[in-house]
Amino acid sequence: MDSSERDPNAPHLSDDQEHNRLLAEMAEQSTDMISRHTPGDWRFIYASPAVEHLLGYRVDEIIGMSAYELYHPDDVEDFKRRAPSVSYERGTYTHSYRFRCKDGHYTWLESTSRSIRDPQTGELKEILVVSRDASRRINAEQTNRRLARVVENSSDLVVFFDLQQQVTDLNESARRLLGLDPGATPLSLSQLFSVNSYAQLQQGLPMAERSDQWHAEAEMQASSGQLIPVSLELLTHRDATGQAAYYSILARDLSARRAMEAERQRYQAEVSHASRLMTMGEMASGLAHELNQPLTAIVNYVRGLERRSVGKSELPVTLLEKPLHKIADTALRAGEIIRRMMDFTRKSLPQREAVALAPVLEDVLQFCATSAHSANVRLTSRIAESVPAVLADRIQLEQILLNLLLNAIEASASGENEAPGEVWIDALESTQGQVIIRVHDRGCGLPEGDSEQLFQQFYTTKQQGLGMGLAISRSLVEAHGGQLWAEPAEQGGAVFSFSLSRAESTDAENR
Ligand code: ADP
Repeated sequence: MDSSERDPNAPHLSDDQEHNRLLAEMAEQSTDMISRHTPGDWRFIYASPAVEHLLGYRVDEIIGMSAYELYHPDDVEDFKRRAPSVSYERGTYTHSYRFRCKDGHYTWLESTSRSIRDPQTGELKEILVVSRDASRRINAEQTNRRLARVVENSSDLVVFFDLQQQVTDLNESARRLLGLDPGATPLSLSQLFSVNSYAQLQQGLPMAERSDQWHAEAEMQASSGQLIPVSLELLTHRDATGQAAYYSILARDLSARRAMEAERQRYQAEVSHASRLMTMGEMASGLAHELNQPLTAIVNYVRGLERRSVGKSELPVTLLEKPLHKIADTALRAGEIIRRMMDFTRKSLPQREAVALAPVLEDVLQFCATSAHSANVRLTSRIAESVPAVLADRIQLEQILLNLLLNAIEASASGENEAPGEVWIDALESTQGQVIIRVHDRGCGLPEGDSEQLFQQFYTTKQQGLGMGLAISRSLVEAHGGQLWAEPAEQGGAVFSFSLSRAESTDAENR
């Protein structure tokens, strides 16, 4: 039977009585707590059964208790002062407060109270209160307030904007970094970004709409025109129907990081330049020897011509042609040696580009040729043509190869009458879009102990050694995003391997 239906055997009630009976029944069944209180000390005269669910008290337990006993101490005063949390509306007032449950914990209630007065005398007779659980709402509000404080005080820039791309909110960091007044006139999103970054953002918006989130590195623009590099997340916020309602941008200022990176790059360029000069110094006598050969050859060709022209007033062109060609070729070869030296010792900031291994290696092998010759070492390249180009700074790649090759030559040096030492270089493609370049030797083998020690600065087993070559080579390889390691070779000697990104695959990833 529906609870509002009457028992047919019950005595007949007047309309007023029936009305009151229905109200009483609704109060009994309501999930909101309905209570009546004495004026002054607010003792419970009546409480509906919802009190049990809301506060844990049985109805008969709470009757007679004063509401003041159950208020949170901080809220009693607030209530008495009719603080802003108490609002009046046409004889009723609503306020939120903490009330102590039977188990001692406090819960948030929102109550609407109404004074009941004697219609004749106007005397306050009792107070009627409807209370509901407000803990979820209050907790959500507190969470929102906490989040808002975090957003406001975050060192990251936070920007909210609507579907028309009008900025609706900025946090303190965004206002400070972009040089905007708190009361600045409404801004459009385009005013906060460089032209390119704004265009980039326009492409990102549909993606953020599809997948809620989009990431990019961009440049924001301060009101002074200064550009600020940032890493940003673009978030889509939706309404109840799932439609995009507004967007937010969370941006991290990368200026300090970029400056540090530039400083680190500059420092590394200095160190690697100094190291190249040192290597060149070590190789100076070998290079002088190498340069001497073409110069001597040129002198010999010229002497030959001199001899042929002695006592003659004319020489046939056919006789001059060949030696002149040879002189020109040899001079060019000498020029080539000088060009390599100049390239190698030039001071420049690293520039990554697609570098084919074969021509670089040809240059480096030429460089080491004299050292290899005097150490009686055979130097060969076994790099297959199919090995793809790598993404690297050409000079630094030469530097790494030269360090490894000179070490390998030194470790493989043999006497004039002994079998020549063997050093060769090969490369293979790894599955992770990398190329691994390996320098093999059959020399003395790695020193005893952990092979990692070789890469520490100043570690050397050589009398004249500095112990910087491998440390610098490793830092150069790592700056390229690769790794450099050493292993003993199976048949004696050592293998030094390093990895670099394939040029094509990296280009493809960037696209
Ligand atoms: P340096 O050549 O001035 O000693 P490096 O950093 O280039 O400095 O090398 C450090 C040490 O690593 C060398 O002293 C040597 O003991 C060892 N090493 C390097 N390359 C080889 C190699 N191919 N075979 C054996 N040991 C090597």
